[in-house]
Amino acid sequence: MGILEKMRLDGKKALVTGGARGIGKNIAIALVEAGAEVAIVDIDMDEARKTSEELAANGAKTMALQTDVTSPEQVDTMIKDIVRAFGKLDIAFCNAGICMNIPASEMTFEQWKKVIDINLTGVFLTAQAAGKQMIKQGKGGSIINTASMSAHIVNTPQPQCSYNASKAGVIQLTKSLAVEWAQQNIRVNSISPGYIGTELTLNSPTLKPLIEQWNAMSPLHRMGRPEELQAIAVYLAGDTSHFTTGADFIIDGAFTCI
Ligand code: NAD
Repeated sequence: MGILEKMRLDGKKALVTGGARGIGKNIAIALVEAGAEVAIVDIDMDEARKTSEELAANGAKTMALQTDVTSPEQVDTMIKDIVRAFGKLDIAFCNAGICMNIPASEMTFEQWKKVIDINLTGVFLTAQAAGKQMIKQGKGGSIINTASMSAHIVNTPQPQCSYNASKAGVIQLTKSLAVEWAQQNIRVNSISPGYIGTELTLNSPTLKPLIEQWNAMSPLHRMGRPEELQAIAVYLAGDTSHFTTGADFIIDGAFTCI
């Protein structure tokens, strides 16, 4: 069997949080194209349903689930629903996240907590519930968490300390789970995208005006496109990446190199 065939995900069952749009949607499309059945998990049910229906129209087996990743109860129910529908869970993409651009000196406790709750606790709860299910199944699995280049650098000029801290936490959480679950053959990795053109960046009143400046700073002089994260997602989800665990993949067009 050739390498491309070995990378296929036929028979695998996956979930993508924040899968309704942006990076998550593009990852879901890639997993489906590679042969997996994918649950689109999002707090925004209308959009999740739309994405799931789009994929199903092309013949894919998908489902949409409304889940707030900050709720342990909702996350547990989401895993149960997926296992009931798909029979098992092999791949969990913990991707839901938000950004707030507020100076530290002006940030309220509630604003700080919201970002940490969704971006870090939400990743922990999803990875924990998925990992427990994978341990029960006894056949390993792959968990991929979306961090950010903001885990590695303090990107400017926008202030976003809670975002940067939450994403740095995602990387260390990823490494910790990779070590804890290595013997169960559950691999845990993260991706750290640079600026990617999605609703989070293109429609944010605080970030949109900065795009030209970011492009000028970037060695490639452009933002990334969400589909430019698809290949790494398929690689990490599938069995050819057996020896890859506890790793973080920076995909930023060399932005963090300067
Ligand atoms: P997006 O805003 O386009 O999509 C995020 C999705 O997450 C939305 O569909 C939203 O409804 C969902 N979501 C938000 N809160 C949720 C919750 N509590 N429970 C469940 N779902 C929730 O954003 P995106 O750009 O696609 O970002 C996806 C991930 O990539 C995020 O973790 C983000 O921090 C990270 N990231 C984005 C960029 C970028 O430049 N776009 C760069 C680095 C990292």
